[in-house]
Amino acid sequence: MREPKFENVVGILGGGQLGLFLAQSLARLGAHTAVFDPDSQAPALRHTAKPFSAPFSDHKRLLEFAEQAQVITYEFEHLPVNYLAGLGEQVAKIRPSLRVLEVSQDRLIEKNFLKDMGFPVVPFLELKEGAELDKLLAFPLPILVKTVRGGYDGKGQTRLNTPEQLESFLPRLKEKLSGGEVLVAEQVVELHCELSCIVGRKANNCYLMPIFENVHKDSILDTTVFPAQISEALRSEVEELSRAIATALDVQGLLTVEYFVVKEASGLKVYVNELAPRPHNSGHLSMQAFNISQFDLLARLLLDLPVGKIEPLSNACFAMANILGDCYHDKQLHWQALAEAEGLVEILLYGKEEPRPARKMGHLVTTGATVEQALSRARALRLALSVR
Ligand code: AMP
Repeated sequence: MREPKFENVVGILGGGQLGLFLAQSLARLGAHTAVFDPDSQAPALRHTAKPFSAPFSDHKRLLEFAEQAQVITYEFEHLPVNYLAGLGEQVAKIRPSLRVLEVSQDRLIEKNFLKDMGFPVVPFLELKEGAELDKLLAFPLPILVKTVRGGYDGKGQTRLNTPEQLESFLPRLKEKLSGGEVLVAEQVVELHCELSCIVGRKANNCYLMPIFENVHKDSILDTTVFPAQISEALRSEVEELSRAIATALDVQGLLTVEYFVVKEASGLKVYVNELAPRPHNSGHLSMQAFNISQFDLLARLLLDLPVGKIEPLSNACFAMANILGDCYHDKQLHWQALAEAEGLVEILLYGKEEPRPARKMGHLVTTGATVEQALSRARALRLALSVR
């Protein structure tokens, strides 16, 4: 077995909380990090010895960042691929590859890729200049119209429930399309549950994290529980799909696959919602629940270390609740709530100064004998933290 390369510098593009936790896992393995983020206050930038704060268009700084890294990864897929492609031979260090980034940062490319490869996706329609809007009018309602690029946490989504809503949306839609915008219309499915599967991949080997079950509120992840309350058959199906998608994209690094599970006449049907080639919010509780967290997994892959078997540390059930800016009052949480907290394993704040609504400020993880108990504890504590 090879020793870790202690001289290693891992470059991380993006300095959010995912980058911060990855940097901490890397530091525990003796590696150094360089972090690039245009926002000088980004959480991971404040904790690295090699911070690079500049716009991505600053080729000189970006190149300097890339040159001192042995390997480069990212914690955010909405990165300007054109600037990264301009790094010449440094591009070979980027994992997962720019191709994976290109597929996952554009909903349409992603959906077409999945569909063409035979992976299940909910019915969708491409909307671009000159598109026949008759097809949209014939599409089953409700519909979600989503921006193709830059949309995350529900940003850039419009829900149309009725023919009247669709009708009155059309002029705005036409305006957007004639302005060159590309959108995708997606059939709204009735969710039985949502799942995510985080896959690590190195050469041809896949390393799967146990599956998480997620609830979104206003299109933003609200809670995650482990273990997911699903049958063995569904678990195997999701694992198989995740492995196959990571392989089809030749991911080197991490890929999170998000799923919709829908109750249909024939039984439960799984659809791929989206792909994120990086650690994921739904994997946060892997830091407390497993022997190897999603960040440890990526760190080992990047440092060329063996991964080992990923296992839960106990039979306990876990829940994670995101703490958004909405929980704050006068920029404060009601910390007194911690005194009454039951089953709290950890509360983590990311060190973001401004608690704006819908901004992810931190999260908490609770445990319980059942997922229901862990989840109700997580929700109760979050509510108590936000009481004004
Ligand atoms: P997205 O940003 O596309 O992942 O959407 C965020 C969340 O909105 C998802 O995790 C779902 O909870 C919900 N959502 C998005 N698209 C659909 C859909 N076609 N049908 C039902 N729910 C959806």
